Formats: sequence, C-alpha cells, structure tokens
Amino acid sequence: MKDINVAVDGPAGAGKSTAAREVASRLNLKYLDTGAMYRALTWKAIIENIDFQNPEEIINLAAVINIDIKNGSDGSNLVYIDGIDVTQEIRTPAVNGKVSIVSKIPEARGKLVARQQKIAEDGGFIMDGRDIGTNVLPGADFKFFLTASLEVRAQRRYMELKEKGCNITLEDVKKEISMRDKIDKGREVAPLIAAKDADLIDTTHMNIEDVIQEIVRKVNKLKAGRT
Ligand code: C5P
Repeated sequence: MKDINVAVDGPAGAGKSTAAREVASRLNLKYLDTGAMYRALTWKAIIENIDFQNPEEIINLAAVINIDIKNGSDGSNLVYIDGIDVTQEIRTPAVNGKVSIVSKIPEARGKLVARQQKIAEDGGFIMDGRDIGTNVLPGADFKFFLTASLEVRAQRRYMELKEKGCNITLEDVKKEISMRDKIDKGREVAPLIAAKDADLIDTTHMNIEDVIQEIVRKVNKLKAGRT
C-alpha cells in the first residue's frame, strides 16, 4: 500500500517548517520544504543579476536551474544549487524581499511543482509550503493549514534572524512578512489559501511542541482508522 502524504500550508512564521520537520521524524516520513525551492531560484536570480521585472528571465532560469535537496542530520533540508550548498544563503532578507515576486510567475511555479509532485509520487512525505493541499498534492491523505497573528509570526521570525546575527528590526520583519502574505494570497495561480478539507490550526497561543503533538495525533488517528 502507498505510504501517506501530509500537506502543511500556511503563511510565513506560522510554525510550518519546524513542526513538519519534527513530525517527519516522529512518524518516519520524509520532509520536503518547498519554500526552499522558491528561495533557491530567487537566490540564483539575484546572483545572476536577473531583472525581476522581466518574468521571461526568471522562467528561463527556472528551466535550467539545478536544485538538489538533501536531508541534514537534524532532519532539516539542505539545499544545493549546481552542487553548492546554499542552505544559509537562501534565508537572507535579500531573498525574503524578492521570493514572492518569483513565486507568482506561473511558468516558474510549474517547473518546481512538477518536481515536488515527482518527489512525493510514492508517498511517505510531509511537505510544507503555500499550495501543497490545494495544488501540489490535492489528494494528500492529511492536510493542515497553520496560521497565527501577524504580530506573533513576525516576532518568531525576528528571533530566528537575530539568532543568526541579522541586523534587522521587528518592524522591518513585520513589513516584509505582510508584504509576502499579500502577494502570496493575491496571486492568480495557486494562491496561499487553506484547502477546503484542511484542518486549521491557529498556533498564535501554542508552543511548537503542542503543534507537533496535534498533527501527530491526528495523522495517527487517521492511519488507525484505515487498518
Ligand atoms: O516557506 P517559506 O517562507 O520559506 O517560502 C518562501 C516563499 O516561497 C513564500 O513566501 C512564497 O512566495 C513561496 N512559496 C510558494 N509556494 C510554496 C512554498 C513557498 O509560493 N509551496
């Protein structure tokens, strides 16, 4: 029998990647951070001085870029472009500021979505992103949509960036996240929206362990009902 696939969607800072990574380890699933693929494409576009106002240039880059995702020892995804590890580089404010412009281009998305679907075709994956439950894996066995207030999401991201030594203010993080939310929700193709059959989890007042346990409990319940 094909192993299960789990979709985890939601806006930046809702706790998706940390939760999905840990759920993968507890449920023996593989983890794929699809945002990392959009970030990798964006990073490469910045490095190659691509004109972000010209979608053709991004589409051409998406057709040839060689992105490889491997699993790190802590279960997180390591991201390589042409064999070079760019895991840290793709998480900078420069990439944050441009990634939603890249990810709203339908043809560029198409390339990455096809890749994501191929990766998960035999099941056994937990994938996080914006359109996993609606578009990448509409037939996923379980779908979660994580949300949290903008204030809390910005605060979480701010702490992460501070820990990495980034010189940024909470206000700037808030602005960047709400700009990304707006573009991700408003785009024509595969916007950020909960699938009709997704389980909504508001993580505003939850700690990450509670979020993980809730997902694990629901997935286990579903699996038990099937045997
Ligand atoms: O998840 P993360 O915040 O790293 O995603 C970065 C950006 O990539 C999002 O703001 C969104 O523009 C794009 N993205 C997307 N679809 C996905 C995952 C990410 O459009 N499935």
